[in-house]
Amino acid sequence: MNALPQERTAIVTGATSPRGIGRATVDLLASQGWHLGIIDLDQSACDELANEVTAKHGVKAFGVATDVADEQQVRAAIDQIEASLPQIVALANIAGVSSPVPYLELTSDEWHRVINVNLNGVHYVTRRVAETMVQYEVGRIVSISSVSAQRGGGTFSKTPYSVAKAGVIGLTRSLARELGPYNITVNAISPGPIDTDIMGGTLTEERKAELVEDLVVNRLGTTHDIASAISFLIAEEAGYISGQTLNVDGGLYMH
Ligand code: NAD
Repeated sequence: MNALPQERTAIVTGATSPRGIGRATVDLLASQGWHLGIIDLDQSACDELANEVTAKHGVKAFGVATDVADEQQVRAAIDQIEASLPQIVALANIAGVSSPVPYLELTSDEWHRVINVNLNGVHYVTRRVAETMVQYEVGRIVSISSVSAQRGGGTFSKTPYSVAKAGVIGLTRSLARELGPYNITVNAISPGPIDTDIMGGTLTEERKAELVEDLVVNRLGTTHDIASAISFLIAEEAGYISGQTLNVDGGLYMH
């Protein structure tokens, strides 16, 4: 087993959304002693979350406003995080955007917007972080895909979202192979419906009930369900798991 260093940093993208998966992940990892590199679009929200996490859990935290779809910004942000915090050991790629536009109404701009954030963004952040991880010969990378990739949409977001999230699974498998020799594991999580605001705003009780009808578990997913899966996959004990897609979806997709 390759031990993780005692003082270790996890970078979380898409971290600041008040009811989002990123914030729940930051909170859980900080409670477990991880230092946190925080990435999201707004600097004051990043600063607030970093301060909150440090006050609550006593870990170091540092946030940098970054558009993950902009490779130069990503590289500069991770340079800053690396200079400010202990060794980067884990990365959680959580930043993402939804897109409910039907295929026949899709514009080229909308296609590129969604692919740029949800797929290229994952690549830019992962590539920069991997450059550091290979130097230390240890790392854990987890990226959020979606059940939409496996079921061909069928969720709030439509085709470009599904394509980008399927790309995340391909990226995960290929990187698991290429980075494995450096003791870096690379996995994806495929959430089903999680109670956040990404599906066009806060879900009504009626919409929640409709979503639950498709599941084998009798409730909607919570942000803590996904944060817990991320925490598991980046733990030292998960070192023999790589190239996998973990479905945290209430049984929506079985294969
Ligand atoms: P959310 O909208 O609450 O959070 C998304 C976060 O990403 C926000 O903080 C946003 O500011 C940030 N973000 C968006 N574009 C960005 C960019 N270009 N650069 C940096 N940050 C950016 O949504 P959520 O439900 O917490 O979603 C988190 C992830 O989980 C997304 O990748 C989403 O696609 C995925 N997911 C969610 C569900 C669900 O049901 N909620 C299901 C499957 C997958």
